[in-house]
Amino acid sequence: MSRCHACVLTCMDYRIQYPVSRWLENKGLKENYDYIALPGASRNFLSEGKVAMIETSIRLHQIKEVYLIHHEDCGAYGLGNLPVEEQLKRQEEDMRQAAQVIKARYPHLVIHLVFVHLDGSILEV
Ligand SMILES: [Zn+2]
Repeated sequence: MSRCHACVLTCMDYRIQYPVSRWLENKGLKENYDYIALPGASRNFLSEGKVAMIETSIRLHQIKEVYLIHHEDCGAYGLGNLPVEEQLKRQEEDMRQAAQVIKARYPHLVIHLVFVHLDGSILEV
């Protein structure tokens, strides 16, 4: 049985891919996570079947942690005209909801909520 440490659900947006991979590498996770990149990350977590994708990672690789990674100016949210704090607040609601769903089914998992600014700085919320 092959295992990895984490599952990452991030937005597909090209602007955040490099900062996200570098950030994960700095956390010691290089080549140790399943990677799911979809529009809006955990937005519409249940209705778009995203939870099932994370469950595949749980089933196949016995992960210990989940990273939900959202970002500034996300096209799936269309909030780019709002101040970044507002964008984060709105997206954080979806992140917390998704985390709740995961936690209810898999209480042993550690969930990280992450927000990427377009200047490459990354905030764990
Ligand atoms: Zn996005």
